[in-house]
Amino acid sequence: MFWSKARRREKVRARAFPEAWEAALRDNVPYYGFLPPEDQAELRGHIHVLIGEKNFEGCGGLTITDEVKVTIAGYASILLLHRDAAYYPRLSSILVYPDAFVARQEFVEFGDDMDVMDDEDVRIGESWDTGAIVLAWKPIMQSAKGQGSTQNVALHEFAHQLDLEDGITNGVPDLDDDEAYDDWVRVMGGAYEALWKDIERNRLTFIDEYGATHPAEFFAVLTETFFMRPHTLQRKHADVYGVLREYYRQDPAALLPKV
Ligand SMILES: [Zn+2]
Repeated sequence: MFWSKARRREKVRARAFPEAWEAALRDNVPYYGFLPPEDQAELRGHIHVLIGEKNFEGCGGLTITDEVKVTIAGYASILLLHRDAAYYPRLSSILVYPDAFVARQEFVEFGDDMDVMDDEDVRIGESWDTGAIVLAWKPIMQSAKGQGSTQNVALHEFAHQLDLEDGITNGVPDLDDDEAYDDWVRVMGGAYEALWKDIERNRLTFIDEYGATHPAEFFAVLTETFFMRPHTLQRKHADVYGVLREYYRQDPAALLPKV
């Protein structure tokens, strides 16, 4: 069965990529334009698989177009480059609202530590471990046009789904070996504590303070920062940048122009 799934995906990845999809990718996923041609081809293949296997659902009046699908699958695929992609196995549906939406009762389940949101909370993204991601379209487009500082809600929510691949959303995704786990715990644990200290002392932090709410949020926030502001992350937190470069098998600071 796994063999046939792999074969099927291989065929899907090799499909021709429509011109309109390519245009949406270039307009809405700027990172794509900086990738070398072989990585662009890999990304296009992943997009085909995700669009074929995931259910996109428009909410609050939003109509799912090819542009919406390609853009969201594009960000999701960045996180899959250079690895044996599992295509977010626990995710089946991607719900998209036009803009910020009122949160459902719970959004991320952190093991035993269920995080229950206030009904009134307005959010731009959620990741459920029951098979769904909820995204707001407007902030994704703002981020694409460089208006969202370090934030990118699509990268954020898909990072939660990567984190969940090993069964628990705890800020530690599936890593290669014991050494990688040791490095992760030492570097990310240290940086998480340092962020806490800076917040307690009212210092301005480069890493978004939201990352201090839970190690899972720390990983998701740093994933956004790694791809959106790699040069500053590398300068200010070289060890964190190094751990993420190993994990994502990409070096965005070497790829993107300095701003
Ligand atoms: Zn989050």
